[in-house]
Amino acid sequence: MNTIPTYDALIVGGGPAGSTCASILVRCGMDTLLLDRANFPRVKLCAGWFSEPIWDILGISPKEYTCGLWEWNKVHINFRGRKYTIKSHGYFVRRYEFDNFLLKRSNVQTIEGHSVRQIERDSEGYWVIDNQFRARYLIGAGGSHCPVARSLFPKPENLQCGTQEREFKGDLEEIVACRSGEDGEPEILMHDDMKGYSWNVPKGHWLNVGTGTKVAREVLPAWHKARAFFEGNGTSGTIPIASRPMLDKMKGHGYICFNTDHLKSCQANNVFLIGDALGLAQPMTGEGILPAVLSGKLCATAIADGVPETYAKKLRTHPIISDYRIMHAIQTKTKKISKERGLEIKVKSRLLNKLIVTVFAYLFSGKRIPGSRIIAKMRK
Ligand SMILES: Cc1cc2nc3c(=O)[nH]c(=O)nc-3n(C[C@H](O)[C@H](O)[C@H](O)COP(=O)(O)OP(=O)(O)OC[C@H]3O[C@@H](n4cnc5c(N)ncnc54)[C@H](O)[C@@H]3O)c2cc1C
Repeated sequence: MNTIPTYDALIVGGGPAGSTCASILVRCGMDTLLLDRANFPRVKLCAGWFSEPIWDILGISPKEYTCGLWEWNKVHINFRGRKYTIKSHGYFVRRYEFDNFLLKRSNVQTIEGHSVRQIERDSEGYWVIDNQFRARYLIGAGGSHCPVARSLFPKPENLQCGTQEREFKGDLEEIVACRSGEDGEPEILMHDDMKGYSWNVPKGHWLNVGTGTKVAREVLPAWHKARAFFEGNGTSGTIPIASRPMLDKMKGHGYICFNTDHLKSCQANNVFLIGDALGLAQPMTGEGILPAVLSGKLCATAIADGVPETYAKKLRTHPIISDYRIMHAIQTKTKKISKERGLEIKVKSRLLNKLIVTVFAYLFSGKRIPGSRIIAKMRK
């Protein structure tokens, strides 16, 4: 007889993907254990922005979220020397609070401070973690360095993007005096080459400042430029002078954005990958919380309904992921054409710049690509 404690499902990682998955499995009466190497609440490098569809997926309204929430209706985008204020919509949270809220709300049995190292399959087909826990279903939700993904699935296709970020407390009056717009309205610096962007987000007396680039090695030079931009000349910057030393201690983290090929690795032998572990972040903006929560939900529903094999199809055909596939196809095609024909977009007209920032602001709101249903049907 096996003496190792046995569960229906074991989830590695308690970020938005893991806790959303856990919440549904627990609600459906499945005996579930979640392991995380961190102790919650924990710091997760992230600007904390997400778009409207998340509430539906989580099954809660913004009013039911009891921690800091900043709803914004305008985004201030700086691009090639001009500033554009564009109507858009979304939310900011502090990940320190949000992830803890979701995890506690899931009511899942959790072991914190446990870093998963060893994953094996026993003779009965159960998954055994570190010789201590055993389950029929194993869910990898450990983010971009997920041990489940690393030990059981091929390395993802896409290279990691690079980030530098920090969230810190400042003086409220000083922040109000120099921020770009209202509380919660993001100030974005789109990089001239469009291979990344930087942000400065006021959240009450908190500031979240960072940079992300598609190519990891380009992040540090981009961050130095962004810092100079946000600090401005003397008193003109949007970060209070007293807070600027906080920017000396940025932290970096790489994660992988969406590639349609990643979907092939979403499940095998009762093991499932969700969120960053699968590399699902939106291919153009890097929004990763929404697909994390979505994949967690789809995976749990498939398992709880007794049809775990349907997770792959549910994920691939979901409208949000269907849009990501279209965006990824556009990116790949554009890259291929410009490589083959040596083309570069050299036109730098004001109109084109305005169009670029408008599209970016639109994507930032999480709305669907116009005509995406028809495009998706044509691609089937
Ligand atoms: C600087 C930065 C800014 C970002 N800004 C945004 C943003 O504004 N909006 C947005 O939508 N996305 C943003 N993202 C992406 C977003 O943070 C991720 O896509 C999202 O957190 C993915 O959630 P997840 O649950 O898959 O993984 P995570 O949130 O990374 O959670 C994974 C969990 O697994 C645990 N874990 C890891 N390894 C082990 C192990 N061996 N054993 C046990 N536990 C383990 C970790 O402790 C962690 O708690 C940003 C990312 C970065 C780096």
